[in-house]
Amino acid sequence: MRLHSGLPYWIIKDQLYDYYNPLREDIHTDVAIIGAGITGALAAHALCKAGLECCVIDRRSIATGSSAASTALLQYEIDTPLHILADKIGEENAAKAYHACLNSISDLERILQEAGIEAGFERRPSIFYASDHNGEETIMKEFEIRKRHGLPVEMLSRKELHERFGINTPGGALFNRESAQVDVYKAASSLLAHDMKNSGLRVFTHTDITGYEQDWADCCLTERGGHTIRCRYAVIASGFEAGQFLPEKVMKLTSTYALVSHPVERARLWPEEALIWETAQPYIYMRTAGNRIIMGGEDENFSNPRRRDRKIGKKVAILESRFRELFPDIPFRAEMAWCGTFSSTDDGLPFIGPWDEGDRVYFDLGYGGNGITFSVIGSQIISRSMTGYYSPDDWIFGFGRVRKQTDGR
Ligand SMILES: Cc1cc2nc3c(=O)[nH]c(=O)nc-3n(C[C@H](O)[C@H](O)[C@H](O)COP(=O)(O)OP(=O)(O)OC[C@H]3O[C@@H](n4cnc5c(N)ncnc54)[C@H](O)[C@@H]3O)c2cc1C
Repeated sequence: MRLHSGLPYWIIKDQLYDYYNPLREDIHTDVAIIGAGITGALAAHALCKAGLECCVIDRRSIATGSSAASTALLQYEIDTPLHILADKIGEENAAKAYHACLNSISDLERILQEAGIEAGFERRPSIFYASDHNGEETIMKEFEIRKRHGLPVEMLSRKELHERFGINTPGGALFNRESAQVDVYKAASSLLAHDMKNSGLRVFTHTDITGYEQDWADCCLTERGGHTIRCRYAVIASGFEAGQFLPEKVMKLTSTYALVSHPVERARLWPEEALIWETAQPYIYMRTAGNRIIMGGEDENFSNPRRRDRKIGKKVAILESRFRELFPDIPFRAEMAWCGTFSSTDDGLPFIGPWDEGDRVYFDLGYGGNGITFSVIGSQIISRSMTGYYSPDDWIFGFGRVRKQTDGR
């Protein structure tokens, strides 16, 4: 699968790393993690910290999958509004999922700080504006339910939004100060480098895992060249390409578009450089990166890379014009653009854990617009499970949700 095309900004800004280390022999380890993106990097970090011997395997260069293409906004609010998620999984569980996302932002900040990694992590406020009349209703309902569950949220009227942030929106917005942004390509690659140096983590790139077997005692991964990795546990952190390892399809693959602007005088950017997104589906969103603006959205319900790529020019023009509607006074022109595969689930939550209870293979699939916060949560759930701890709420992110619908369990 071509996970992205065009030029993701981060690969140019941070450079493409030359690390090359294909697996050339059969090995043994405690945990083998498939995927050297942010999910695999965070899982490896948590597991190394828990004292387990780990290796990470990737068919590509380090972090050049979806993590390189990410626009990397970090928000506690997921693609499925809390009041809708409450209808799907119950209000208490939905609120727990939202709180887990909220905590994961500070957890990521702490992980990077403790490891001494400077990966552009910056705290930012977040604005979720009503795109239309229906959106007004959404933000009213969201405000009430988020308040009820102690989530950080303020309501801004259209006038306040314009006066404080200079945004021309059709309606009001929800606002919070608990969001952040990061350079996730740098975070993933630096975290892997940190654990290779400090925790004996082994990383094998350009190594394609083609299958696995497991029994009660251990599991064994096989790579395309025939070498094997025998381990106590395996973690599948292979992002949107995990379909090959899943017994059933649990996600919908879509296409998404992103661009980075020419540099803009910093003083002309909007106040506080808040993250901005909207209630419409699909939504547009934006953040800053230094003196540039990163914007994304215009998702489409197909994943064919050739069809996706053909649309880049048209999508850039739409995103530029949407930006100018919101901020007519900020000079905005795309400098480079890219598009990528994206994945969503029915309830907007990720899939973390074994497919069946007792399996030695764990999935760590942060599907949805909050993939990075989900990766943090995944690393915590998986390291807990593999070291014998269990939190009764972990099931909220597990496969029991879909298994109930598909086979009645
Ligand atoms: C344009 C765009 C914008 C986004 N914006 C945001 C955002 O603002 N906020 C947010 O939280 N999330 C966002 N996301 C989602 C987020 O980027 C992803 O959830 C996250 O990067 C996924 O990381 P990952 O490590 O799971 O996957 P990846 O980074 O794709 O890593 C998985 C790795 O597994 C490897 N792999 C797959 N199969 C195999 C195999 N069989 N053998 C060996 N290796 C294999 C791949 O080569 C890949 O490197 C965005 C995504 C895109 C595309």
